[in-house]
Amino acid sequence: QTIGENLRRTVERFAEREALVVPFQNYRANYRQFWDEVGLAARGLMARGVQKGDRVGIWAPNRYEWVIVQYATARIGAILVNINPAYKTAELEYALKLSGISVLILAKAFRTTNYVEMLDEVRGKCPDLRDALVLEQDWQTLLKQSDQVSEAQLNEREAGLQFDDPINIQFTSGTTGLPKGATLSHHNILNNGYFVGLTCRYTEEDRVCIPVPFYHCFGMVLGNLACTAHGACMVIPAESFDAYETLNTVQTERCTSLYGVPTMFIGELEHPEFSKFDLSTLRTGIMAGSPCPVEVMKKVTTLMNMREVTIGYGMTETSPISTQNAADDPFDRRVSTVGRVHPHVEIKIIDPETGAIVPCGTPGEFCTRGYSVMIGYWNNEEATKKAIDRGHWMHTGDLATLDEEGYVKIVGRIKDMIIRGGENIFPREIEEFLYGHPCVSDVQVIGVPSEKYGEEVMAWIKVREGSSATGEELQAYCKGRIATYKIPRYWKFVDSFPMTVTGKIQKFRMRDVAIEELK
Ligand code: ATP
Ligand code: MG
Repeated sequence: QTIGENLRRTVERFAEREALVVPFQNYRANYRQFWDEVGLAARGLMARGVQKGDRVGIWAPNRYEWVIVQYATARIGAILVNINPAYKTAELEYALKLSGISVLILAKAFRTTNYVEMLDEVRGKCPDLRDALVLEQDWQTLLKQSDQVSEAQLNEREAGLQFDDPINIQFTSGTTGLPKGATLSHHNILNNGYFVGLTCRYTEEDRVCIPVPFYHCFGMVLGNLACTAHGACMVIPAESFDAYETLNTVQTERCTSLYGVPTMFIGELEHPEFSKFDLSTLRTGIMAGSPCPVEVMKKVTTLMNMREVTIGYGMTETSPISTQNAADDPFDRRVSTVGRVHPHVEIKIIDPETGAIVPCGTPGEFCTRGYSVMIGYWNNEEATKKAIDRGHWMHTGDLATLDEEGYVKIVGRIKDMIIRGGENIFPREIEEFLYGHPCVSDVQVIGVPSEKYGEEVMAWIKVREGSSATGEELQAYCKGRIATYKIPRYWKFVDSFPMTVTGKIQKFRMRDVAIEELK
């Protein structure tokens, strides 16, 4: 199936059910209305000359038009290029040129960034770009232009699409460096969305609160595609993450599911007005994107009523989810592992040096193969070859262990592993341990260069509001509880961590700061 065919089926079954609700834009549409607007936008884009395979960029924070554009481009076979809302001119130019975007759909501005001015600055340098459409000004015009293209012409275009056509260039989060553009097909992301929805047991009764960005696979696949594949409703709380708006939207829209990276859930749980909100409608949700601390999972399950909350593990390059735990997994497994392999994909854990499969319980590189592996990095055959081997296995760069029953634990990224005096140290383990301290609200552990040991352990701590802690106290807390070589030598107390817009902590930036400070 293509994404358009799948949406058409959902509309036939659930026409009168709500599809998309965006309270801050006063937007509500049921599936029939949603389908109609997608159709108008699709025909409008055809009228503006968008051909199959053309790259259409979208540069906007979360708003309803983003979702309409996602499905409209899929229906006409254009390749949607998700552009990070946090980008500035140099990065915008990079994205426009890299993917040869011919039509750019953009918001006027986001926070303090004036998108229109930025686009003016780079436009002259991007010869492929022939059309730009500002949502606040040109959206209605686009919909009206649909009268130049008939329904029959749209249907004809759709009939010529294949399920394995490229449909999307999604950029990775940029957690470890420059974002990479993964080229994905209908088949890749539609199936992944479908299976995620199945694991979360979505039906047309579900209302899924999506505070994660659409520009990222978490929003557009786990969010939008999982909903539309099962007739559930997409509920968008704000343009970009806001803990208060998220909690408030869950309450007023009676959401049954809520998404977030761990830092978002921490922000909600620690919000001063948290206990004021009625979250009793919640049943499930997904935590994903970075290591999910057991303590946070436990709190989400109890304090937020998300009894069936699951952890998902994956990456943009694999559409994204490879493993996910399920509602009926035993509780301890559900909060402490990333679950088992998803339907129709294979996984293996190998020694990164030799490529041999490692025994159960031994950490190794997580590799995956199946429908979900991307077509490749856009216009970068070399990087693609490095990531996907000849046997079609995607090498993730993540270290994981697999137990006898098939549950996977993510140990950390190969790049983040600390080697101190020949001992391998996984930051995750120390982070999990420090979460157990009552004064610690959030913690991130990195390795910093050391002449004596090669690397030393450094912990960055966010202290819980109203409490305080010192490095000596935390060091004393570690003594006798974790091996001496793992106890952080350096402690830094912060209010926040360097983060991507997807809410992921950029350890490479933390390392840069630490190296400067330790000089
Ligand atoms: P970049 O590749 O640009 O550095 P990124 O890897 O963060 O950024 P994404 O594709 O958004 O970009 O994220 C995938 C990565 O996120 C995985 O490779 C893994 O390291 C991490 N991740 C995702 N889910 C989990 C999880 N449940 N537990 C631990 N880590 C996770
Ligand atoms: Mg990555």
